[in-house]
Amino acid sequence: MVGNTGPSMNIDLHTHSSASDGTTPPDDLVRQAALAGLDVLALTDHDTTAGWDDAIAALPPGLALVPGAEISCVYADTARGPIAVHLLALLFDRGDIAFAAARCGLRESRLLRGRHIVDRLVAGGFDLDWDRVLTISAGAPVGRPHIALGLVEIGAASSVPDAFARLLGSDGPYYVRKADLDVIDAIALVRGAGGVPVFAHPFAHRRGRVLDEAAIAGMARAGLLAIEVHHPDHDAVAREHAREIADRFGLVGTGSSDFHGSNKTTPLAAERTDPAAYHRIVELASGARPVVAVPEPDRG
Ligand code: AMP
Ligand code: MN
Ligand code: MN
Ligand code: MN
Repeated sequence: MVGNTGPSMNIDLHTHSSASDGTTPPDDLVRQAALAGLDVLALTDHDTTAGWDDAIAALPPGLALVPGAEISCVYADTARGPIAVHLLALLFDRGDIAFAAARCGLRESRLLRGRHIVDRLVAGGFDLDWDRVLTISAGAPVGRPHIALGLVEIGAASSVPDAFARLLGSDGPYYVRKADLDVIDAIALVRGAGGVPVFAHPFAHRRGRVLDEAAIAGMARAGLLAIEVHHPDHDAVAREHAREIADRFGLVGTGSSDFHGSNKTTPLAAERTDPAAYHRIVELASGARPVVAVPEPDRG
């Protein structure tokens, strides 16, 4: 057995690297995770698996990597209009064609929408260059944090959160929606690829409107398997509510930091998943296994 697998395991099931909108390269991320005392780390970049290989190649002994992604989705609420939903996909087969094509479409939609936001900022008088935003994103799926960093560079914002608060937030003047996946379709795609779909930060009110119980019941019927209970954007009431929902619909409850490097303030391992919940997730997955470092040959 490699590493700590007992009841005191430290497990963080939702983090980002520079392969999406985090600032830490995937190889540094796994090294930092080990230093932070983690036994299990999930890498869940937005709409991409591009960081998996570098993370796996750099895995320190004793750390298990759960390969994953965070999928940009929308819930089509007939009464209230579309509501943005983030769905974590853990331990899926990245070679599954239908799911891989869907991720590809999401990245393309990010590119078009990023360009649209920058065009609008330029029309609004901001001296921002689309090529500079592409350079900042360095091949990662373009997200608002890359645009925010561009705004900081030209002195139009003091920080990434400041750019979100005044310009890029979902109720801000330059917000443009992306063409995301219907969350019911996304759940089917994740399950079709053998993965475990996890409803990310379901009650993070500060991000905008949240789903009601009827919507979550529909996601559970569609094959949702888990829900985040502990997340930096959940207050005590949100955690209690998420736990109740998990119990009612038979979903596994998870916890995670949603680490983004210096783009956010939450450190790795700040919120964690219970080992029993983690083991259940591994049992439920058929698309991939947690990856551990191949031990050095014993040269005795
Ligand atoms: P996008 O995926 O392009 O819509 O951008 C959403 C991302 O922006 C999230 O995944 C977070 O990483 C980041 N984000 C959202 N709200 C904020 C905020 N208020 N401050 C800093 N980063 C944020
Ligand atoms: Mn993000
Ligand atoms: Mn998210
Ligand atoms: Mn996230």
